[in-house]
Amino acid sequence: MGMEQDFDAVVVGAGFAGLYMLHRLRGEGYTVRVIEMAAGVGGTWFWNRYPGARCDIESMQYSYQFSDDLQQDWEWTEKYATQPEILRYAEHVAERFDLKRDIQFNTRVTAAVFDETAERWRINLEDGTTLGARFCIMALGCLSTTNLPEFNGLDDYQGDKYHTGEWPHEGVDFTGRQVGVIGTGSSAIQSIPIIAEQAAHLTVFQRTPNYAVPAWNEPLDPDEVRTIKADYAGLRKKAKARPTGVVFPFNEFSALSVPEARRQEIYQEYWQRGGLAFMGAFGDLLVDEAANETAAEFVRGKIREKVDDPATAELLAPQTVFGCKRLCVDTDYFQTYNRDNVSLVDVSEDPIDGFTATGLTVAGKPYEFDAAVFATGFDAMVGSFTRIDIRGRDDVALKDKWLGGPRTLLGLCSAGFPNMFMITGPGSPSVLASMIQAIEQNVDWIIDCMNHMRDNDLDVIEAEVAEEDAWVEHVGEIAAGSLRSTCSSWYLGGSIPGRPRVFMPYIGGFPTYVEKCDYVAAAGYEGFRLA
Ligand code: FAD
Ligand code: NAP
Repeated sequence: MGMEQDFDAVVVGAGFAGLYMLHRLRGEGYTVRVIEMAAGVGGTWFWNRYPGARCDIESMQYSYQFSDDLQQDWEWTEKYATQPEILRYAEHVAERFDLKRDIQFNTRVTAAVFDETAERWRINLEDGTTLGARFCIMALGCLSTTNLPEFNGLDDYQGDKYHTGEWPHEGVDFTGRQVGVIGTGSSAIQSIPIIAEQAAHLTVFQRTPNYAVPAWNEPLDPDEVRTIKADYAGLRKKAKARPTGVVFPFNEFSALSVPEARRQEIYQEYWQRGGLAFMGAFGDLLVDEAANETAAEFVRGKIREKVDDPATAELLAPQTVFGCKRLCVDTDYFQTYNRDNVSLVDVSEDPIDGFTATGLTVAGKPYEFDAAVFATGFDAMVGSFTRIDIRGRDDVALKDKWLGGPRTLLGLCSAGFPNMFMITGPGSPSVLASMIQAIEQNVDWIIDCMNHMRDNDLDVIEAEVAEEDAWVEHVGEIAAGSLRSTCSSWYLGGSIPGRPRVFMPYIGGFPTYVEKCDYVAAAGYEGFRLA
């Protein structure tokens, strides 16, 4: 068959998922090669170098827990780590566990084909090489394929173009420049205040406003770090028991169960705490529309307080369900619109017509700028899969199987694609949980499964169609009960024109999912066919 090299497993991607997968596979004695199209490790944190990029899960929790020495040794400096710091952490992990020798960088996987006779995967690389492997493990990331909308005339535009998810390594100095930012999601909300400080003028093109809660970022308190490190395992255990996999204070009672004055006090208290923890103010914010509206109105009130011009404040105040799109965490985002050099253009009713040599037009009106920043997000959850020509049994292409939305069992496997695992695939909690924790859980499950196969002389594992159908239906059913299904967001493919509206991550909570995965394994991989 002319394969140049053969492995037990080929892993695609060297973000936090690929790195930990490699570490575990090697530790269990499997031969492995990781293929990564970037020039280095870190995935998200390698690519997203835009100004202001940082995590919105507190850094003491946004980290690996598989090695106590690692979590004790590593020193985070801020409540929310910056992109450079997280990238340094990923590089430290790669060095510390000597991972780079098994990673091939600057190489894109273009195809992965299951050979039914040999029961092995053939993995084609952009450089023309083919690798063979019993297991093909996709550590592709949920937010790794950027979305650049097909704007008319984009090629005619003579200015510089940047996408937040593919930011130049040397950085960009906007000093004295006219800048246009398209999009107002998390990436825009983090970068706009910093770009505004540099630019001569910044024009923001907003299609849908977003809710944001202040980060109140600050240097980490050494006493707090010491306390956490004295019982890191305790913090991790508490996190695992939470639906989001993150520890923050929360109330279980309804927003409607307390009088208005008390409700406002509680919102104010959670506002002062800041960040995603604001969602914990009441127990029913994502299930009861009336409760949700009280949170939405509280945050709209904050936006009106911060933005001087009432018309701009109204444009910035979302009317959608609070937390339907992913809640943003900001530092001085709304105040930025009080600057003389910043203007906001609403493109919700009249979309961007297209680009010209010097900018773009909306309803025929020209806006000129010499640098365009596309903060237009990602082809989330499925885009990195469909860009690889993945073929399973009977030469069926995964992208065809997923035309009506992704179909997986537990987000780990897809029927008809034997011995292909996905880490945080669609149908797993992934982006609705703290991601590194979700990654470690998926990787550990995959390793246990591979060891079970090795111990029992089993060559092939494959999701059963009926079980997969039931899981897909279950994922859809519980999503339908959440207010998160009520708007257009990347959770349901909303960023990409023409995509079916299918809620992709599992919204039933991290502990419920872990319980289901553990049950399946304990029952001899119930729902999977092993041969
Ligand atoms: P990634 O880090 O995306 O890595 C996937 C890798 O696969 C990439 O390096 C990519 O180059 C590679 N790859 C993909 N396709 C191919 C191919 N065909 N061939 C070769 N290589 C390929 N999550 C949180 O929990 N908290 C946060 O605060 C948070 N902040 C975020 C901020 C930003 C700006 C973004 C974009 C995401 C954020 N996330 C956050 C989600 C984040 O993606 C995860 O936390 C985590 O980093 C994902 O790791 P991963 O290894 O699964 O995927
Ligand atoms: P995003 O949330 O998908 O935002 C994309 C923005 O571009 C939206 O405002 C969208 O408008 C707009 N847009 C897309 N196509 C457009 C078009 N044709 N015309 C006009 N506007 C258009 O992407 P993101 O900001 O990169 O964030 C993605 C996810 O990454 C986040 O939700 C989060 O999970 C993660 N992230 C986290 C952080 C963090 O704080 N840690 C930071 C960045 C990213 P519509 O809303 O109308 O579609």
